[in-house]
Amino acid sequence: MANLDIAKFKQKAYKKKKGLATFLRKAGKTKKRGLAPLIVEADKETWNEVACLDCANCCKKMTPTYTPTDIKRISAHVGLSAEEYFKKYLEKRKDGDVTNKKTPCHFLGKDHKCTIYAIRPADCAGFPHFTRKDFKYQAEQKTYTTNITLCPATLVFVEKLEAKVAGKMGKI
Ligand code: SF4
Ligand code: SF4
Repeated sequence: MANLDIAKFKQKAYKKKKGLATFLRKAGKTKKRGLAPLIVEADKETWNEVACLDCANCCKKMTPTYTPTDIKRISAHVGLSAEEYFKKYLEKRKDGDVTNKKTPCHFLGKDHKCTIYAIRPADCAGFPHFTRKDFKYQAEQKTYTTNITLCPATLVFVEKLEAKVAGKMGKI
C-alpha cells in the first residue's frame, strides 16, 4: 500500500465499521461450515495488497502484549535485565496483559521500520492475527472490529472475507 493515506483510510474505516462489525458478529456465531478456507484466501489476498512497511500504524497507535519469553529475549538484546526492561518500558494492565507503557512503540525507527524486527514480540509477528485458530472467538470478542479503524490490512481483510462469505456460504 504505497503512500498510504491514513486520514483517508480512517474515513473509510469509520464509515464501514458498523456493517463490518455486524458481519463479524455473525461470523463469530455461525454454525455453518466453510469459513476457515475463506479466511485463508482473504488473508493471502490482503497481503498482496497491503504493505505494512508503508503503514506502521499499529506500532504508532497500539501496543503489543508481551509474553515472559518476549521480555527475556528483548531485554537481553538491549542489554537490560528483564526487571530493568519491564520497569523502563512496560506495564501490567488490569486484565493481566503486559504492554508498552507508551505509544508509539519505543522500537519504531525511521522509515516505519521496527528496529528489533527479527526478535519482535510474538504478538507483533502475528498481528493482525487473521488466521488464528480461535478466529471465531476473537470475532465475537470484537478484536477485529476494534482493529478495523486502526489497521488498514484489517479493513481490507474483513471486506474481502465478507464478500467471500456472501458469495460462497450465503446467509450466515
Ligand atoms: S516491537 Fe517493532 S513491530 Fe512491535 S510494535 Fe514495536 S516497532 Fe512495532
Ligand atoms: S498490521 Fe495493519 S496497522 Fe500494522 S503496519 Fe500492517 S497494515 Fe498497518
